Amino acid sequence: MGLVLKIYPMIRLILGDQLNPKHTWYSNVDPSITYAFFECMDEASYAPHHIQKVAGIFEAMRQFAANLRDKGHNVHYKKITASLPSLGENLKALTENLNITVVQCQEPDEWRVKEHLNELSNQGVTMSFVSSEHFISTTGGFKQQFSGKKSLLMESFYRRMRKETGILMEGQQPVGGKWNFDASNRKSLPKNHQVPPRFFPETDVTDVLKDIEAAGVKTIGSIGDPKYFYWPTNTDQAKSIFYYWLEHDLPYFGDFQDAMARNQWAMYHSRISFALNTKMIDPLWVCQQVELAYRNRPEVSISAAEGFIRQIIGWREFMRGAYWMRMPEFGTLNYFEHDRKLPEWFWTGETHMECMKQTIGQSLSHAYAHHIQRLMITGNFALLSGIDPSEVDLWYLGIYIDAFEWVEITNTRGMSQFADGGWIATKPYVSSANYIHKMSDYCGSCKYDRKTKTEANSCPFNTLYWDFYMRHSDKLGNNPRIGMVYRTLNKMTPEAKGEIQERANWILNNLNTL
Ligand SMILES: Cc1cc2nc3c(=O)[nH]c(=O)nc-3n(C[C@H](O)[C@H](O)[C@H](O)COP(=O)(O)OP(=O)(O)OC[C@H]3O[C@@H](n4cnc5c(N)ncnc54)[C@H](O)[C@@H]3O)c2cc1C
Ligand code: SF4
Repeated sequence: MGLVLKIYPMIRLILGDQLNPKHTWYSNVDPSITYAFFECMDEASYAPHHIQKVAGIFEAMRQFAANLRDKGHNVHYKKITASLPSLGENLKALTENLNITVVQCQEPDEWRVKEHLNELSNQGVTMSFVSSEHFISTTGGFKQQFSGKKSLLMESFYRRMRKETGILMEGQQPVGGKWNFDASNRKSLPKNHQVPPRFFPETDVTDVLKDIEAAGVKTIGSIGDPKYFYWPTNTDQAKSIFYYWLEHDLPYFGDFQDAMARNQWAMYHSRISFALNTKMIDPLWVCQQVELAYRNRPEVSISAAEGFIRQIIGWREFMRGAYWMRMPEFGTLNYFEHDRKLPEWFWTGETHMECMKQTIGQSLSHAYAHHIQRLMITGNFALLSGIDPSEVDLWYLGIYIDAFEWVEITNTRGMSQFADGGWIATKPYVSSANYIHKMSDYCGSCKYDRKTKTEANSCPFNTLYWDFYMRHSDKLGNNPRIGMVYRTLNKMTPEAKGEIQERANWILNNLNTL
């Protein structure tokens, strides 16, 4: 008698940020496999999520599942309800219902989820993990490159990635003769410069919204007309946004990457982070398209192409490596021992500080702010004010449509709040009003005076900037990258310093009224 191979039925779990249509899982239809999707209450409420984030993820999951079903795969889909709140409970219930004990997952991106899934192995479920086939680098390679190092160096990681992918390379040399054109990415918008209209896809998310409300999920922010939801909910839409950006906006991206303007919520940024982080589009493919544009279109400069590619094969991959190298300890770091609560207006945008009002306002209405707004407006203010990094993390994790812990916490606690004492960033990203005024048109419409630091109407950034460096001179005084700041402070008279500290104390005691 010939050998008979018994096929064991299996469940394959697909998480909301694992919507990669090109995964090899789907290369053939296997009737012994059931693909499982769960809209879980716990996942929808572990942070105060923006309504657009919850609706966007659930809508994208529903479309992805429908697509698999259309292709002949077995699909189990559970919509959001208050019952069976956790992923584990849902998965356990499904294994019992189908009488299947073998579950395969794609490697989760978040520590919390990985721990949760691992627990199931102790409950009679045979769990195994495969690659999500999305990232370009490996977490092992990152550890190897940086283990034992006191601080990480993104630039060295980035150069390795350029060499390994061959992106923007001529043999072993970088295209354009330099690895990094960062210095050309810092122009402010010229007066009267009009950013042309953006492209937005349209999806009707009315049904998803009704289910979210019926289940009682608590969310923040607003969604506008649910018939015209404008974040991508499938790969085709994600590609349409990207292609439009590639055609119209990439030439300006390099110059104006750091610029900010009132009523321009996305500027020349690509808005593809949500599609990337849910894996609807592939990061390497995105970079290859940008390189092709650079090589074929004279209006696309090397600084625009390199500036964009650096964000993806550089910063994005780098943050993932850093996350897996230091979690879960990373989530507890608080170098400056900051312990203040976030001002209440972080949840409403109702403040007289124009830069904060604009940035928080657009975050609440669009679930989006671009990098410099996150780093140099809200993050800058939180660090200068001594807000507890856990409060800051939770806010960032909830409010942005692209916020998933691996890329949120490394940017927030690490790059923005310096809570790791300089492991990710070599110096704190803080500034006074000078920088904000140079890069935006916010200050002209503000109640506060951007030029002074000790008056009753002085810009809070100015006062807090100097106070921050005085408060933390023991931890920062020897940092060679900020020697200039301490040289200036040393030249100030004790009276001048005292006046700054007095106003800073008033600000810190009255954060809610600013
Ligand atoms: C405090 C803070 C919190 C942040 N939280 C998140 C987050 O939760 N999720 C997230 O995806 N990004 C986060 N970022 C990084 C960055 O701000 C966003 O990726 C970017 O604003 C997304 O908009 P975009 O797609 O238009 O980006 P673009 O400016 O068009 O850039 C293209 C892509 O590059 C990648 N990228 C750019 N900068 C970074 C970075 N610093 N780290 C990782 N990837 C980067 C993103 O995938 C982005 O889509 C954070 C930055 C800061 C300072
Ligand atoms: S003056 Fe200060 S608070 Fe006002 S917009 Fe400028 S930087 Fe922001």
